[in-house]
Amino acid sequence: MAGENCIFCKVVTGEIPAAKVYEDERAVAFRDINPQAPTHALVIPRAHVASLNEAGEADEALLGHLLLVAARVAREEGHAEGGYRTVINTGAGAGQSVFHVHVHVLGGRALTWPPG
Ligand code: 5GP
Ligand code: ZN
Repeated sequence: MAGENCIFCKVVTGEIPAAKVYEDERAVAFRDINPQAPTHALVIPRAHVASLNEAGEADEALLGHLLLVAARVAREEGHAEGGYRTVINTGAGAGQSVFHVHVHVLGGRALTWPPG
């Protein structure tokens, strides 16, 4: 069930505008409003899933699809050779602030490890 106050559900419906870089029947990708790298996109499912913790067996193909969309976006942004990072923060303790599952795609600068 889509959370009525979920900002990413509102991005899906268009109620909140976003700079979309890709969309299909299951996923939408758009630029992060507060980018942490020259490329910082978010890949989300159209369907509301709060986090990886709430995902189940029925979401297995959807989660795989989100990763393939992330790779596609990174490729289209020119990061196939230079490298890019995909991140899914799960839970407030890990930095999740929007509870609609999303894959961050970061690229275009050197990325250190371990992350903060
Ligand atoms: P999290 O902290 O949950 O892993 O990531 C949420 C991300 O969503 C943050 O990087 C934040 O900048 C981004 N964000 C929050 N609200 C909006 C919004 O309304 N539009 C866009 N494009 N990004 C948002
Ligand atoms: Zn949502």
